Amino acid sequence: MQYKEYGKTGKKVSVIGFGGMRFRKEDYSKSMEKCAAVVRRASELGVNYFDTAPNYCDDKSEEIMGEAFKDMPNPFYVSTKSAIWSEKNADDVRRRIEKSLKRMGLEKITFFNMWCILNLEQYRKVMAPGGPYEGALKAKEEGLIEHIVFSTHCNGEDIETIVNEGYFEGVTLGYNATNFAFRQRGIKAAYEKGLGVVTMNPLGGGIIPQNPEFYSFIKENENDSLVQAALKFNASHKEITVVLPGMGTIEEVEENVKAGENFGEMTEEKLNKMAKMLNESLDALCTGCQYCKGCPKDIEIPKYMDAYNMYILNKENTAISDRLKWHWGMNKEKAAECIECGKCEAQCTQHLPIIERLKYIANI
Ligand code: SF4
Ligand code: SF4
Repeated sequence: MQYKEYGKTGKKVSVIGFGGMRFRKEDYSKSMEKCAAVVRRASELGVNYFDTAPNYCDDKSEEIMGEAFKDMPNPFYVSTKSAIWSEKNADDVRRRIEKSLKRMGLEKITFFNMWCILNLEQYRKVMAPGGPYEGALKAKEEGLIEHIVFSTHCNGEDIETIVNEGYFEGVTLGYNATNFAFRQRGIKAAYEKGLGVVTMNPLGGGIIPQNPEFYSFIKENENDSLVQAALKFNASHKEITVVLPGMGTIEEVEENVKAGENFGEMTEEKLNKMAKMLNESLDALCTGCQYCKGCPKDIEIPKYMDAYNMYILNKENTAISDRLKWHWGMNKEKAAECIECGKCEAQCTQHLPIIERLKYIANI
């Protein structure tokens, strides 16, 4: 496993981190132990960056981590989060930190994320007097957390604005072989400012391994699986400190950590070449993150957008209807019920034209 300096924090972290959002329900609903063993296996193989959050895996992820940490001899760093939608002020954040510490059996959290900042308006709310950042800062002064970082789905320009204001030591953001052009500016700005850069969603919500032909261009080594190639794609960027795939089984851990052993160096030339291959579909794919949920018309947007992904990848309308019918057991009619309120587009982490796509689907 290779290690990189996390910004200016003095921490050396494994280039492959453990994303604690993919534990299997069939495992944790019976016992925490099977999931905890997955975490421990990652530690044995050199992973020392463990990311979790309240609410992941039916709110069990932090508890699973805590179970694993009881019996993990290698040193490790922990990242968890508080969200502006549930921890609205400094006191809420304090309570959240205390709860996370208790659940994980820790005395301090290494990296505490102001979670999922979607736009500058939310950022201002996080930073407002008496707001979440203030709560985190106080906890830091008291030694309950070490570094305040932020996690975001903002576009590159907004990330640059946040980074340049200088309140954070690192950033967690979605970056992969699908959306890289969209976030280049953000990772560059963070790197130049000396922040650690953690990249979540390196497999594009599963889209990359599910479409091996389309994404074959990211493979530099024939012996790598597409998952490994996608992780290496991120790891090879000098701007990126940690690649964070979600892991739910020991097999996944063993496959993922191999990507952290050797990887090339990403150059502008390679990126430009890849961008050309992705052409107009750059960042156009839905990653399935589900942040657009809560439609007033109960339209299952992520499922419709997933079906539209198939159209982008196959250029056939039948790919949409087939995906809806055979994969999701749905039909296109519900898409026509959109009242264009715009709520989903305001929340979409990929800034997709959801309304336009729903109209397209309704009319195929
Ligand atoms: S714009 Fe349409 S799909 Fe989006 S939340 Fe509003 S009604 Fe639902
Ligand atoms: S439409 Fe946007 S917010 Fe919704 S799942 Fe897809 S990428 Fe995520």
